[in-house]
Amino acid sequence: MAQEWNIRPRGHVCALCGQPFTDKQACVSVLKEIEGGYERLDCCADCWRQTPRDWEPFSVWEGEYNAPSPAAVKAEPVKKETAEELLRKLIALDDPAMRNVVYVLAVMLERGKQLVERDAKPHESGGILRIYEHKKSGDTFIVLDPRLRLDQLGDVQNQVVALLSGTETLQTES
Ligand SMILES: [Zn+2]
Repeated sequence: MAQEWNIRPRGHVCALCGQPFTDKQACVSVLKEIEGGYERLDCCADCWRQTPRDWEPFSVWEGEYNAPSPAAVKAEPVKKETAEELLRKLIALDDPAMRNVVYVLAVMLERGKQLVERDAKPHESGGILRIYEHKKSGDTFIVLDPRLRLDQLGDVQNQVVALLSGTETLQTES
């Protein structure tokens, strides 16, 4: 079964020449369709332009590499579950029943400027596959936009609020 959504971390070295990226370096990020999902390649803009290939990328965007800052990671205070933590957990859970919640969370994070939409592709389900990139870490989130109707949106938003406030908890199979 095809993976409907996924998280792909950003590479810290060029996938083509193997050189580590430097802070603020222009880089090209590519999603390549592979059996059961997507592979992510990050490379120097020049390497991408100059290296011949015999395959078509699923998605390509240009970005800027931001060196991870260990100080910023440590400064993050321990608090109740954030929308981002919940999104990562739900994506890992891969439960089709949570698809609407995953999408609404991704939209919330995009509005909060934590995620940037990089691409959108029609999906065989009739929805839209949206590719978001995390502004700080550069992680890619592949999320299916199920094209919710307005009358469905309220219920999903309530579910998101309940999950974030802890009044509803995830049913994780053991
Ligand atoms: Zn390179």
